[in-house]
Amino acid sequence: MSTIAATEFLPLVATAGAAADSLVVSLHDVAPPTQQITTTIISELGRQGVRVCSILVVPDYHHQGFFTRHREFVTWLRGLEADGHEIVIHGYFHERPPLKRESLHDKLLTRFYTRNEGEFYDLSYEEALRRITTARDEFRAQGLKPRGFIAPAWLLGDEAERAACDAKMEYTTRLRSVCDLRSGNVFPARTLVYSVHSAWRRALSRSWNAALFRLLKTKTLLRISIHPCDFSQRAIWTQILEFIAATKTARTATTYQDWIAEQRLGLGT
Ligand SMILES: [Zn+2]
Repeated sequence: MSTIAATEFLPLVATAGAAADSLVVSLHDVAPPTQQITTTIISELGRQGVRVCSILVVPDYHHQGFFTRHREFVTWLRGLEADGHEIVIHGYFHERPPLKRESLHDKLLTRFYTRNEGEFYDLSYEEALRRITTARDEFRAQGLKPRGFIAPAWLLGDEAERAACDAKMEYTTRLRSVCDLRSGNVFPARTLVYSVHSAWRRALSRSWNAALFRLLKTKTLLRISIHPCDFSQRAIWTQILEFIAATKTARTATTYQDWIAEQRLGLGT
């Protein structure tokens, strides 16, 4: 890929004296019902020095109505983008109706692991393309500039990935990687993420993420994925803030789109 195409992608903000390693904090499941809690999360993160995040917006969360119906929400998103945050398309409905005939593997993955939210896990190419392009055009019509598409629970089937690519989405992420859809480069980078729906999951999540954080210390990119429900679990929220504090001097907070742009320019390797 040429340098011209890479620089077209996004203006990179060069920060004098910035740490070479990166931190991307992504905020998931952002929609009108979660706007208030996301605002609080963003301001707490800002106080900890994380001034930009990748904000994953669901176009029509659980069929509750398209986000464009909420003018105040759209204005808020525009403001976030103007402040340097990135708006990312996160699924369409964020819901996957269970199919009648499913393998045990599919059942385990889509029902127990993701609680029926793996919307793009096995969508057809045509349907995935329709949902992604509809969302993309609506975001653009509102003056927003989404570059990335991230499937709910990172479950993106092959057909849906091809659709995201053909819809000219620039990148996607999975649980264990970040993928530049334009170049096809896949960057291994596991994300920290919590499961909060029962006490044992929360306890296990905290020990798992503590171990993972130690393991990821030497990696150039650290990813932390935050869901709205993480904020109300104080032990989990405290741990997230501890990780951010521990990494403050070693890493610069960025967004996925800026991180990808850096990789394209060969600055991040
Ligand atoms: Zn989600």
